[in-house]
This record gives sequence, structure tokens and C-alpha cells, in this order.
Amino acid sequence: MPIFEYRCLECGEIVEKIQSLPVKNLACPRCGKSAERVVSIFSGTSADNPAGGCAPSGGFS
Ligand SMILES: [Zn+2]
Repeated sequence: MPIFEYRCLECGEIVEKIQSLPVKNLACPRCGKSAERVVSIFSGTSADNPAGGCAPSGGFS
């Protein structure tokens, strides 16, 4: 399932949600204000690997 990212308009908190479908906005877990969806600015090399880079899934070493 894809991960969607939201940023709070009030405190700037970044919220990551694993959802089958994105919503337009959600409540910030920190301050309760509205967090809007942000679209990742880095254009991935592969469209079906949106999480590439940031979240190592372990297994190295
Ligand atoms: Zn907030």
C-alpha cells in the first residue's frame, strides 16, 4: 500500500499515512489542525517504488 504524506498548516508537522487512497487533508496528530496532502517533489526513477531511499527495509550487513 502506498504511503501518503501530509503537512500540517499550523505547526508544520509531517504526517505519513499508509492508505490505499489519499485523502485531501486530515487532522494533525500534534495540534489537531488541518494537515494537507503534500506530493513528493523528488521524481523517482521508478514509479512503483515511491519509498525508495528514505526507509531502508533492513537486511544489509
Ligand atoms: Zn499541527
